[in-house]
Amino acid sequence: MSTPALDATHDPAVRSWVSSANEPQADFPIQNLPFGVFRRQGSGEAWRGGVAIGDNILDLQALHGAGMALPHTVTAPLGAAAQSSLNEFMALGEPCWHALRLALFALLREGAAEREAVARCLVPQAQAQMNVPARIGDFTDFYASIHHATAVGRLFRPDNPLLPNYTWVPIGYHGRSSSIGVSGQQFHRPLGQRLPPGQTTPALLPSARVDYELELGVFVGPGNEPGQRIPLDETGAHIFGLCVLNDWSARDIQAWEYQPLGPFLAKNFATTISPWIITAEALAPFRVPHERMPGAPAPLDYLDNERNRGAGALDVQIEAWISTAAMRARGDAPQRLSHSSFRHSYWTVAQMLAHHSVNGCNLQPGDLLGTGTQSGPAPEEAGSLLELTRGGKQPLALPGGEQRTFLEDGDEIELRAWCEAPGRRRIGFGSATGRLLPART
Ligand code: MN
Repeated sequence: MSTPALDATHDPAVRSWVSSANEPQADFPIQNLPFGVFRRQGSGEAWRGGVAIGDNILDLQALHGAGMALPHTVTAPLGAAAQSSLNEFMALGEPCWHALRLALFALLREGAAEREAVARCLVPQAQAQMNVPARIGDFTDFYASIHHATAVGRLFRPDNPLLPNYTWVPIGYHGRSSSIGVSGQQFHRPLGQRLPPGQTTPALLPSARVDYELELGVFVGPGNEPGQRIPLDETGAHIFGLCVLNDWSARDIQAWEYQPLGPFLAKNFATTISPWIITAEALAPFRVPHERMPGAPAPLDYLDNERNRGAGALDVQIEAWISTAAMRARGDAPQRLSHSSFRHSYWTVAQMLAHHSVNGCNLQPGDLLGTGTQSGPAPEEAGSLLELTRGGKQPLALPGGEQRTFLEDGDEIELRAWCEAPGRRRIGFGSATGRLLPART
């Protein structure tokens, strides 16, 4: 990622008059200010943009209508961010995103003169229903963790785990946006064509190997015209923000269908994202050098610059948790399955944008890129059951005596993410939770 500079909005000492935002473990302190789309639960209200602050949402529609004296640079971005999807706000670009962040920060910080009027625009998150925050025109899923690519490659092709193109070209596939849902999504176990073990003829059956994939999602800002490209140096202006993303996968359908064109029905039955988009500006303090393992070739020139090497990676902690129907019935807490960091990614977000557009493919505001399963170098950092159970051969033990190789009906997976660094205010992503329902008969 390039640009966003650090300024007063990243100062860890600043507190909000919304007291829940000041809890040390809060996901949404005043230094975060992520955008989402919501309405009051059970209401027929219109969807509208909001910003999470502590355990509340600042209703941008209400703020827009409150007739408050705000800097004129904020009029257009506030109007756009208040809409029922954030596409128009994403299209406005970095100066507008920055102007609105500064204004919201000033309104929400301790001592703000406008406190009383702004307090009337707050809605408790507990009373809100969240929506997918943008009309997602296109969804592309990358494959940016070399640890995931190697582990999965070993299962599918033991002699030849990492194909020779991997270290040179950011691999991806075009996914499906119609089945992307926000946290709370429930979906039925997919039916599909698969080759049962020991058989030579495929059958149409419910998948027996439904898996999660621990990923981040990237929302695109202004984007590029067809035939143009986004040079690596300019990618920062096109990265609106990040969310958590679960690319649910049916491994048995995938194994049968993936050659030669890659994933198709194994992936497009459901994708779950977290409702809040953490802006590139809020993430700026957590940029770290992009380091690759010894022996990895230097990227081609269009995927390489000093900024990407020096601060192109993001240290985002990511986790997957499981809660089975039996665990919930007993009141057991969820169990953690995976924990890693996005800093291990072989390709950065900036490289994904530069590569995606290098052929003149136009990216549009609200497009979503998945990073691919973010497995780290250690075995417990694996971001899917496929890896954690070695292709279903080593079951995982869960509390109460249950075991899992792949997901059972009723299982719920929650993905969480956050950033922490010395001298910085912790910020969180919230979570993306989804539940597998029985196959339709
Ligand atoms: Mn994926």
